Amino acid sequence: MAGTFNLVVVAPAGEVLNTEAEFVLAPGAEGELGILANHAPLIANLVIGVVRYTQDGKVEKIAISGGFMEVAQNKVTILADTAERAESIDVDRAEAAKERAEKRLREKQSETDMIRAEVALKRSLARLRATDKL
Ligand code: ATP
Repeated sequence: MAGTFNLVVVAPAGEVLNTEAEFVLAPGAEGELGILANHAPLIANLVIGVVRYTQDGKVEKIAISGGFMEVAQNKVTILADTAERAESIDVDRAEAAKERAEKRLREKQSETDMIRAEVALKRSLARLRATDKL
C-alpha cells in the first residue's frame, strides 16, 4: 500500500482542508498533475477546476478557481483564489452563476465582459463538477 502525505488547501479566508491523503489530482495550467507520497519537490500554477484526492481509498473533491501548488517534504500545499469542499458548495448558487454567465455570453457584450463571463462560467462548472451535478 502506498504511503500518505499531508494535503493542505488554503483560500484567502483561511484553511479549507488539512488532512492525510494517498493521492491528489490537481488542475495544472499544463494539464492534470497527479501526486503520490514522497513526490519530488515541485511548484505549479493551477487553473479553475476540481482537485480530487483519495483518503482511505475514497475520492473527495474540492472546487478551486486557480492558484499554486507546492510539493515539498511529503506535503502538498494548494494556495487557491477560492476553494470549496464539495459538501459546502451551494448548488443553486453555482447553477444561477452558470446561467448568468451563459446569458452574458449569448448577448455578446464587450470583449472584457465576454472574458469575465467565460471565467465565471468556468468557476460555476468546476463547482457543479465537484458536486457531481454535471
Ligand atoms: P457568484 O456569482 O455566485 O458570487 P462567483 O464565481 O462570482 O460566484 P467567487 O468570486 O469565485 O464567486 O467567490 C466568492 C466567494 O464565494 C468565495 O469565498 C467562494 O468560495 C464563495 N462561493 C462562490 N460560489 C459558491 C458556491 N456555489 N457555493 C459555495 N461558496 C461559493
